[in-house]
Amino acid sequence: MLMPIAKVLIVEDEVKIARFLQMELEHEGFATATEANGRQALDRIMQEDFALILLDVMLPKMDGVEVCRRVRTISEVPIIMITAKGDIEDKVTGLDTGADDYVTKPFAVPELLARIRATLRKHKTPGQKSAEGNLYVKNLLLLPGRYEVQIDGQPVDLTKKEYDLLEYLVRNKNLVLDRERILQEVWGYEYMGDTNVVDVYIRYLRSKLDEPFEQKYIHTVRGVGYMVRD
Ligand code: CA
Repeated sequence: MLMPIAKVLIVEDEVKIARFLQMELEHEGFATATEANGRQALDRIMQEDFALILLDVMLPKMDGVEVCRRVRTISEVPIIMITAKGDIEDKVTGLDTGADDYVTKPFAVPELLARIRATLRKHKTPGQKSAEGNLYVKNLLLLPGRYEVQIDGQPVDLTKKEYDLLEYLVRNKNLVLDRERILQEVWGYEYMGDTNVVDVYIRYLRSKLDEPFEQKYIHTVRGVGYMVRD
């Protein structure tokens, strides 16, 4: 099997620097993509898998610090921030919002490449593991172990219990699951008999999944329970 080529997203509004980075990275054997404003970069990161993001701090539409903060609410993709020379506050804020590393402009290419390789090495194993266990139903994606849910690439904010319930339904998709069994599997024995809690949490899930995305994921089977259908 061929090794997949690591794809790096370069987020940089200065065209000359973006081109230069693209050339250098492709020369090193990476695939690349570029975005010139923060808003579009964020949209793209939500939809596509990248091995690493090179993120300039000063960007139109949304600055790099804000992009990084938002990406971190849903993804552990490695991020290296590119800051202006001597801008100490940028560096501190960048690392506070979850960037893995930063380089200062003007940067030396060998140093940047060394940092990219080091950052990729650190992330390699968990990234591959999480991709293997992903669960799908229609446009819904679950990332077990990270307790993350996305619909059409958009993150959906669930509580731990809502997530547990959804994961159980999705792992058993296309099967009718009765309330007692759901209760036992998701809540445990101490809740036995109180199947109302299942109905309540199904309502929570529907209000977060079915209603906003106008797609029905959870079906009621009258007199029995619930199922998630492909
Ligand atoms: Ca810039």
